[in-house]
Amino acid sequence: MLMSRKEFLRTSGKAIAGIGLLGTGAVSFSQISGCQRTNGGAMLEYKIKDLNLVHTWTISRNSSDVKHNVFVKYTKDGVSGIGEAAPNIRYNETPESTINVIKKAKPIVEKADPWKFVDLGYEIQNLVEEQTAAKCAIDIAIMDWVTKKLGVPLYKYLGLDKSKAPITTFSIGIDKPEVMQQKIREAEKYPILKIKVGKENDPEIMAAVREVTDKPLRVDANEGWKSKEEALEKIKWLETHGVEFIEQPMPAEMLEETRWLRERINIPIIADEAVKSAHDIPKLATAYDGINIKLMKSGGIQEALRMIWMARSLGMKVMLGCMIESSVAIAAAAHLSPLVDYADLDGNLLIANDPFHAVDVVDGKLILPDRPGLGIEGEF
Ligand code: MG
Repeated sequence: MLMSRKEFLRTSGKAIAGIGLLGTGAVSFSQISGCQRTNGGAMLEYKIKDLNLVHTWTISRNSSDVKHNVFVKYTKDGVSGIGEAAPNIRYNETPESTINVIKKAKPIVEKADPWKFVDLGYEIQNLVEEQTAAKCAIDIAIMDWVTKKLGVPLYKYLGLDKSKAPITTFSIGIDKPEVMQQKIREAEKYPILKIKVGKENDPEIMAAVREVTDKPLRVDANEGWKSKEEALEKIKWLETHGVEFIEQPMPAEMLEETRWLRERINIPIIADEAVKSAHDIPKLATAYDGINIKLMKSGGIQEALRMIWMARSLGMKVMLGCMIESSVAIAAAAHLSPLVDYADLDGNLLIANDPFHAVDVVDGKLILPDRPGLGIEGEF
């Protein structure tokens, strides 16, 4: 679970004192920011924003009402690119750890030639172990800057056909059956739903869902089933309920068990927690049918592209997913989405106070903006 606001302020007092604050007197969490220019023309700023969720968000691991995402702004030659990190405790990330990595990367990014973004990307990836959300924020901001400077939308720079952007699922978090039914009613305009399971009451949840909708469902267990027998029983039952595929049925490390499971079921198994970067993919190819790429896991756009090509070369399906993210990170993933089979890019739709806007969703379909860069509108 994310640490509370109080806890963060207590544990990160030192860091906060060192990075400068916007405003005086009582310090709001969302005001924590770093904006000291350290080198010539380029500047990398960072800021935490509190993202309030429309509904309490519960998956098999944890629950939350507010997310504290870290935003970065890279400015050079009169153009700014924006990036976002959604720290996830599953991967040992907190807003504090994310800011520490950004602070470490700041002098490197400000000194670098952004046009050599491939080299810069590797340098940032290798700067520290893990902490991919922080790396992702920087990579998104640089790619936004580069494509803004070129005056083209990111998808066009990549040579992609925006009409091939897929329909995104809309996710229904775990809740009391009657609340889930209400969420499903609110999600009327989305043609495909993603249902979170993996707790004790899965049958009750699925029965409640099917009582109110006959839409195609994609199901995510978030590693919630702890034995292959339990996973098999649950999936066999789900197969009779119009489920298209199952995401991460068992813990990431249970590769052998997942391979066993795959031989006994008829719907595809998609790896999520089991895959972060391209390096992880080859060993998964015999146990999973596809992978769920998230920019927060990969460390950004550049590694996500390498993952797409790697998965394709192994004949695997590709899905683009997200954490709870604003329109910044969602836009970055959406620009890659014409390359993939499935999209689950609804993180911004679950937020009540998204500070940005970029991608529209019409009848579930992702509509990519034609503005340069990621096409983000809104104040950093
Ligand atoms: Mg998942």
